[in-house]
Amino acid sequence: MDQIFDVLIIGGGAAATSAVLTLKNRGKSCAVVSNREETSSLFKAEKITNYPGLPPMTGAEMTALFRRQAEEAGAVMITGRAISVMPMEGLFGVAVGSDYYMAKSLIIAAGITREKLYPGEAEYLGRGVSYCATCDGMLYRGKTVAVVGGGEEARHDADFLESIGCTVLRFEKNGRYEIRGGMKADTLVFAGEEHKVDCVFIIKDTVSVTKLVPGDCTGKPYQLAKAAGEGNVAALSACDYLAGK
Ligand SMILES: Cc1cc2nc3c(=O)[nH]c(=O)nc-3n(C[C@H](O)[C@H](O)[C@H](O)COP(=O)(O)OP(=O)(O)OC[C@H]3O[C@@H](n4cnc5c(N)ncnc54)[C@H](O)[C@@H]3O)c2cc1C
Repeated sequence: MDQIFDVLIIGGGAAATSAVLTLKNRGKSCAVVSNREETSSLFKAEKITNYPGLPPMTGAEMTALFRRQAEEAGAVMITGRAISVMPMEGLFGVAVGSDYYMAKSLIIAAGITREKLYPGEAEYLGRGVSYCATCDGMLYRGKTVAVVGGGEEARHDADFLESIGCTVLRFEKNGRYEIRGGMKADTLVFAGEEHKVDCVFIIKDTVSVTKLVPGDCTGKPYQLAKAAGEGNVAALSACDYLAGK
């Protein structure tokens, strides 16, 4: 997409939606990058009874309501996982799979990830560990790779890697994994067994991203009303930032 948004928001929950509504009131263009809705904390809530202005409803119903509100306000909704953020000449570039989006400012409202990193994951990220087969797969064409992850996206990525000639070792997400290597990752250890690989693709729903950060990702209490309030503050801070550019 060629458009440069005033604000790009990573996240799709209360914080992100609140930010969208305030930004739209201020006449800013914005895009929301968010994982599939069923991956959010909110989606899993059985019943929300303490959010002002709304009757009791399930997390799934509230998630759908937030999305509709953001869409109707005119935000461009992008479904996918933001895998990296890069500052460049006063702008921010955000990679979502193999697509790239540019914005003048960024709000990270990605909630919290409850998933722990595997030993070696952070150390070897970009050196034999990747979060995106579409982006990095070609680097390992014809080689042996591991795909760690469950669900549709992991299956799709594993199939893609096979289609470009990789030998793919498939692993479910849950398990005790360790990534080892030298300058580069070369071994995935699972259940005491060592697997020699050229790359480990880890397919997760959330990737932790560390400017303007509202919602659960700022810490406790993990509550919707707080997330929405902080989304509003982040949006106003983004407007101030844009005015000063
Ligand atoms: C079971 C359960 C019950 C709850 N009940 C209540 C309740 O009754 N009342 C209450 O006030 N609160 C409740 N909460 C807490 C509430 O859901 C959170 O406080 C609130 O959803 C936080 O909003 P948020 O916008 O900060 O983050 P989230 O709602 O977590 O939204 C973050 C979004 O960002 C997406 N995301 C993360 N990383 C990326 C990435 N790299 N790329 C793209 N998208 C990404 C996630 O998939 C998610 O959609 C409950 C939580 C749970 C788990």
